[in-house]
Amino acid sequence: MFYRFLCLIVFVVFSISCAKDENTSRVNQANSETIYNWRMVTTWPKNFPGLGIAPETLATRVAKMSNGRLNIKVYGAGEIVPAMEVFEAVSQGTVQIGHGAAYYWKGKVPIAQFFTAIPFGLTAQEMNGWLLHGGGMELWTELYDRFDLIPIPGGNTGVQMAGWFNKEINSISDIQGMKMRIPGLGGEVFTRAGGETVQTPGGEIFTSLQTGVIDAAEWVGPYNDLAFGLHQVAKYYYYPGWQEPGPALEVIVNKKAYESLPDDLQEILRVGALSANLDMLAEYTARNNAALVELVETHGVEVRRLPEDVIAVFKKLSLEVTEEIIDDDPLSIRIHESFKEYYQGVVDFHEISEKAYINSR
Ligand code: CA
Repeated sequence: MFYRFLCLIVFVVFSISCAKDENTSRVNQANSETIYNWRMVTTWPKNFPGLGIAPETLATRVAKMSNGRLNIKVYGAGEIVPAMEVFEAVSQGTVQIGHGAAYYWKGKVPIAQFFTAIPFGLTAQEMNGWLLHGGGMELWTELYDRFDLIPIPGGNTGVQMAGWFNKEINSISDIQGMKMRIPGLGGEVFTRAGGETVQTPGGEIFTSLQTGVIDAAEWVGPYNDLAFGLHQVAKYYYYPGWQEPGPALEVIVNKKAYESLPDDLQEILRVGALSANLDMLAEYTARNNAALVELVETHGVEVRRLPEDVIAVFKKLSLEVTEEIIDDDPLSIRIHESFKEYYQGVVDFHEISEKAYINSR
């Protein structure tokens, strides 16, 4: 009797589990036949070198890896929504996915700037360390969940240049009254140092410098700045890019759209974004110097280092403005704590590794 009862139990449990497997596999099969056509909005001009290539890389690779099941059509800034409305468009579900940088949303989420760049903060390599293995991604995901968004790192330019200037900088007093296009916390630092900060979209930098609306502008580095022709409208090219030492760009995915994807496509999307993240840094690393040589040798650009006293003032002010974006929100405090702890550790280790090696070669 007991044996028959046991057999019955085994039979029932087995049948249920088979039915469940069958259901799951039917769902998976349905999902594996579904074609997803997504639209991606970006904060860059379509196909712009470096920045605008990352979303294309992502789209091409995802289409190939998914065998055409996830197709992402990339739109440049202004084609569906203006650059500064990318966050909102993906958050609201107007489109499924976007590419940009977290610090563009500082008006809405000041603390998000930690996930792009903090002046005198992390290099590209260090940033990837914090995001992918230092707790950064978990915090970023928690923060963006409030906006129904899922963030994935989507590119990095490496250390930028301090920018293009039509006036010489020989001491901190030269910053007084200078009008510069410089976004994010760097812009706030520049204002406190006595300058005037102007927010100019990338596409308008050239004209603003040409017409004298601004005296200076930072964009990215030689590879991108040459493509914009900024050497035609400014004399001096200053370094180092204290304001953006290793800015991480972002892929943002609407949460509902992401969750509608089967597991394999979610992973393909994630891997596609991470491959674009790696690829962009490699592209800048490989192309920056050739562009710099062309700027100097063909176009006669004067490359200069910012004076030490200017760097010292910027550094002091950077600490100040960074502390100020941390509010009472416990998540904001946790993001800051995580960043600070990681920063101290990586800076200490890089004293005897990256920095020591670069100084010794
Ligand atoms: Ca920049």
